[in-house]
Parts: sequence; C-alpha cells; structure tokens
Amino acid sequence: MTTRIISVAVPVPLRQTFDFLPANEQDLPVLGARVKVPFGPRTLIGVVVALKDDSDLPLSRLKPIKETIDQRAVLAPDLLSLASWISQYYLAPLGEVCELMLPVILRQGGDLEPPAVKSWRLTDLGRSSPVEELNRAPLQLAIIRRFMQHQELTAAHFKDETSSWRQALRSLIEKGWVTEHTEHPKLASTSADTSEVDLNADQQAAFHAIHGALEAQQFSCTLLHGVTGSGKTEVYFAAMQEVLDQQRQVLLLVPEIGLTPQLMDRIATRFTVPVVSMHSALNDRERHIAWWHSASGDAKIIVGTRSAIFSPFANLGLIVVDEEHDASYKQQDGVRYQARDVAIYRAKKANIPIILGSATPALETYANAQFGKYQLSSLTRRATDTALPKVELIDLNLQPSNDGLSPALMEAIKHTLANSQQVMLFLNRRGFAPVLYCAACKQTAKCHRCDSHLTIHRRANRMRCHHCGYEGRITPQCDHCKAEELVEVGDGTQRVEEALAMRFPHAEVLRIDRDSTRRKGELEAMLGQARDGDADIIVGTQLITKGHDFPNIGLVGVLDVDQGLYSTDFRAPEHLFQQLVQVSGRAGRRDTVGRVLIQTRFPDHPLFKSVQSHDFNAFAKQLLSEREAADFPPFGYFALIRAESPHQAAAMQFLRRAKQDIQAQAGVVVLDAVPAPMERRAGRYRAQLLITAEQRSALHATLQQWLYHVSTDKEAKKRANSVRWSLDIDPLDFY
Ligand code: ADP
Ligand code: ZN
Repeated sequence: MTTRIISVAVPVPLRQTFDFLPANEQDLPVLGARVKVPFGPRTLIGVVVALKDDSDLPLSRLKPIKETIDQRAVLAPDLLSLASWISQYYLAPLGEVCELMLPVILRQGGDLEPPAVKSWRLTDLGRSSPVEELNRAPLQLAIIRRFMQHQELTAAHFKDETSSWRQALRSLIEKGWVTEHTEHPKLASTSADTSEVDLNADQQAAFHAIHGALEAQQFSCTLLHGVTGSGKTEVYFAAMQEVLDQQRQVLLLVPEIGLTPQLMDRIATRFTVPVVSMHSALNDRERHIAWWHSASGDAKIIVGTRSAIFSPFANLGLIVVDEEHDASYKQQDGVRYQARDVAIYRAKKANIPIILGSATPALETYANAQFGKYQLSSLTRRATDTALPKVELIDLNLQPSNDGLSPALMEAIKHTLANSQQVMLFLNRRGFAPVLYCAACKQTAKCHRCDSHLTIHRRANRMRCHHCGYEGRITPQCDHCKAEELVEVGDGTQRVEEALAMRFPHAEVLRIDRDSTRRKGELEAMLGQARDGDADIIVGTQLITKGHDFPNIGLVGVLDVDQGLYSTDFRAPEHLFQQLVQVSGRAGRRDTVGRVLIQTRFPDHPLFKSVQSHDFNAFAKQLLSEREAADFPPFGYFALIRAESPHQAAAMQFLRRAKQDIQAQAGVVVLDAVPAPMERRAGRYRAQLLITAEQRSALHATLQQWLYHVSTDKEAKKRANSVRWSLDIDPLDFY
C-alpha cells in the first residue's frame, strides 16, 4: 500500500508548501482541513492543500503531522483554488494567503463552529419582584436595572466591570430571578419598513442589462457608471432582491464600513433577510461568528470591506463592489491583493454576476468596459432630478488666501450660511500647519527619522510626523539657532477650523479628520451630526468626500489641490479627478443646485475643464490615450519590488543586484533601482525597482524565475535576508 503524502500550506514567508506523512494510517485529513505540523523547533497550524502519492523528498525525511484539527474543510474547494490563484497571481506564499483567508480564532486553532456562549435572562419572578428587596445588594440591583435595557445579558456586557458581578449574578440565579442559557450565536432578521422605490427609466435599463445574467445564474461583469446621486444603490438593491428570491447569498463590498452607516441603514430597512457585516472594527469572536454565518448560508447579505472577499459562502449568487475605484480595495502590505480584481475572478469561477459601481471608475475598469470585456451601464442624471453642481475656479494668483480661505470663498460661505444651507470645505491636510519655519536661520522642523516635515498640532501643543508617528512638544525656540522667530507655514484643517470659528462666530464648525475621529464611533457620530444639519460648516479631509448623502450642502469649497496637479505619480491626475468629482458630488443633493468652488494657482490646467463639465468620459479617454502612448497600465503591466533597510544604500544595493539577476523575458523591461520618493521613513532607507511588461505572462514568468533564484541561490538568499523587501503586482502607489 502506498503511503499518502500530505501537502501543507504553512503560514511562513516561503513560497512553497511542505510535505508530511499522516499521523497514522487511519487518520488522513481531508483537503482544506487544518493540521498541526512540526516546523523546526515550532509547531505551526497549516492547511492541507494536496494529498498525493509521492514527494520530491525521500519518504524517510518526511515527518508525520502532529494532529488533525478539523474533520471537514475550513477552506472549501472553491476557497482553496482561490487561494492558489492568488498565490500565483500575486506571487505570494500560499501559506500566507491561506492564513489571510481565515478568521484569527481559526488561525490559532479554535473550533470551526463558534462556541456557545452563556447568556442571562430575567424570569417572571425577577420581573414581578419589587426591586426594593435589593436595596442592600447594590450590584444585584444594578444588574436588574440593566435588564430594563437588554432582554438578555452576556459576559460582554460586563467587560468593564470588576469580577464581583459574577457573584451578584449567581445570587440572583439562586433567588430564581434570573436564568442562565447556553446557546450558539444566532442571527436576527431585520424588519424592513420601506417599500421598494420604482426605478426610473435609466435605472431600469441598467437593471435589465444585469437581469439576464442574474436569471441565467451565470458570470457577467457589469460596470455601473453613474454620476453621484444617480441611484446606483437602488440598482444594486433590485439585483440583490432578485438573487435573494433565488434563495442565494449576496456579497456587497464597500470601502470602509465607518464611512457607510447610511448604506447599512438602507439595507436594514429594505431587506428582511439576515445581514452580517465584516470589517476591521469587529473583534476576533465577532468576525468568527460572521464568517460562520456566511459559511452556513444563514446570512443572506454579507456586507464587508476588502478582506470579506475571502468569506466562505453556502450559495453565493451575486457580488457587488461599491465605489470600485476606491484605493482601500488594495491591500498595501503582506499579500498585496486587489479585492475588486479578486472579486471578479471569484465571480467568474463561481459563474455568478458581479456589478462594479462608481461615479468615477478606475481607469483600468473603464478601459475594460470600453474594450467590451465588461458590460457598461450608465446613469447620467441624478435620481432626484437635481442638476449636477456648478463648478467654478478661484485663481489664487489674483486673490491670495488667508488661513486657506480666499476672499471669494469667504463671500460664498457667508452667502450660503445666510440661505440656511451647509458649507463643506475640503482640505486633505490634517493638523494646524504642515511646516514650522525659523525666520532667523531659515531652517524648518524636520522629523529625525523621516525625510519629512513635522506637522504642527497646536491644540495638543505637539509636533507630529504623519509618516512614522513621532511626536514632540512645540518649543518657542528654533531647534537649530534658539531664536524665537518661528512661523507656522501652510494650512491644515485645524487652522482652517480656527479661522472659521473666528470669522463666523455664530456658525457651528465641525472638523472631520483622523485626529478628530480617533475613538470608535466618533466618525459615525460626526457624519450623522453633519447629515442632520447640526453643523453649519464642515471642514475635513478625504474622510468627507466618500459616498455620504448630506441633504443640505449648498456649497463645497476645495481649498488646495495644487500638489496633485504636477505630481510625478502617473496615477495622480486620475486620483485627483476622482476626488474632485466625489467631493463636488456632495453639493446640492436634494432640491437645490449646489455650487463648488475650487481654489488653485493653476486655473488653466486641463483637468479642471473636465471637472467643470462633469465629463468623465472625455477625461478618461484623454488619460487612457496618454497611458497607451507610454505603455502604462492598463496597456502595459507593472510590478514593483520595494526594499528597505536601516543602513543607507543597502536597499539600493539589493535592488541593483536584483536588476542584474532578473532575466527579463521578451517584452519585459527592468528599470533602474531608484530611491523611494520619500527615501527615509521611520529610520529606514527605502528604494524601489519597477518592472514593466507588454504581457502579463512574461512578467510573471520573469518574476517567478527571479524568486526561484532568490530562494535557492545561496548568495542571493543571503542578500535577500539582509534587507526587508516585498513584491507588488499591479502596484497602486509608488512610495
Ligand atoms: P448613488 O448610489 O448613485 O449615489 P443613491 O442610490 O444613493 O445614489 O440615490 C440618491 C438619492 O436618490 C437617494 O436619496 C435615493 O433614495 C434617491 N433615489 C434613487 N433612486 C430613486 C428613484 N428611482 N426614485 C426616487 N428616488 C430615488
Ligand atoms: Zn517621521
């Protein structure tokens, strides 16, 4: 009888799987199950990715696995093959991909099914007994009071208390006032209270385009390109309803849950099926439970951020990717996957439709729609029949700004407030001022660990580096010459907020940025406050630009975007355009025509013409023709090797050597190693090497060959271990 060999993906940064023998002849784990395996001196938890008859190693060198954790797969066959595709496409270690797909509790060896939890409920006796009886037992009284707000309590309700609540609870159980239950977590259905809206003609046309694929239950990829407020969400909902009627599940990917409380509300009021959300604010247990409900099929709608694309499903029928252009779909460390692209691959394999929605599609997506690879549905008008806002430019050369605000913008703010409408001001720079300058010695305050300036946070009396987190006190004297002639140069959201409070003393000014929303729930609360009209002027960073529906914004002011106009990053114009369209979209959403004012020193820049005419198509076509001429994505393919080291020149040396070692296939070009745009960050020197190709397959083959060299050649391996490096396929940012 041949011995079966078990291939295991182990969570280590090595691009290979490892072979083991069964623990004993009877006990052969199934594909996709977790196993504990000996790994050097350690024991690691890996996933069985293959069962085979022979190994590259002699049998005598294989060790037996230590333990089989699961009797059935944690990664079902569809997820195993997705993992293997991701590993091949992003050239990432399969073990790390498998790890990424599992909730933390399962990575650590926890039971597949979330364990039952204890909960406590009030009995009839407890409900009818007079609470005065507890006057001498304040803890018991406090627990009974809590039952007035909650039908049942779990340990989570007491997590901020000292442990004496357990004793108090036990006394209540002995008295017969409270009973204890032990149950597996259940999913509640929501109670819908709104009826469907009638889709308008454009929405109907968009829905019909998807409908065929929904009915036939087969793959199709549709770009739903609709201007802000055109009713894309309603089209998603119609498609989702169709799939729910087929008793199948829907996955809705969103950029950030914190930014989409309205969407969650709309789902809860529209659908009666159980909904789970998956995002980074969940704790490990909550995430495990959401994962479980998705796998069992109990959850019908799964709303999640990037990593939700790895969820298991019992019977998935549709994927929707909302704001598909959003950069948060790209993972920027570890396995550098792009969730939108993974979603398309997954939909194709599962043979189900996928909808990508955006007012400003990524150029890659837009091009695919133009080439006919995706279906295109366009919504060109707002659903509520309000006109798109009027966009005007303010030439800062003619009228300089004071604290970030030009006279023309000040006038417009005054006018808007007088009309009882809200003002939204966008400035993508938090803090008070980005530069502290000494008029005596002409030096500026710099981070000693990064090639960057320290940002002044006056309220906290701190100078902070936004790149490495360093912070220090603001001193009245210059660090270099000790003169007391420091000047705060440039504008951040805090300075603008202060200036507004001074100039509009009767207006409620609300600042929304990472600093003002550090605590959990704060961002949601502030967005709610802005939406409910409890703020007259909202000043914020890109946090305020995304997808919110603020009903009463009459004016949007864009304070400073000039940096993005002449950036070296080839994607900068695309991202700037998307940002301007998104922020402009916040103006005049209900019954008023909104006004948008953009302050700039370069009013003749062609990008503004497209923003003013709301002509995404013309702009996208122009950018695409530039990209085509330069063989940039989506006409060429990029990969970026990044390296960093605390030793100056080490990263550059490693990449120069990599360039020599890479044997470029036909059509593949390896550029020169260059320092990163900000070379030193958190005390590390960073460099990058760009590899471009006409064909993806040649790019992959070239990189695979180099990765093999780096992992097998002794000298190359040593060099690779001397720096920290990573490989990014389809990089989004160059830094
Ligand atoms: P988008 O997702 O494109 O930004 P939404 O779906 O949020 O647009 O719609 C914008 C606004 O228009 C919302 O207030 C929504 O309730 C409303 N709306 C959308 N479709 C319709 C419709 N067919 N009839 C009436 N109102 C609609
Ligand atoms: Zn720093």
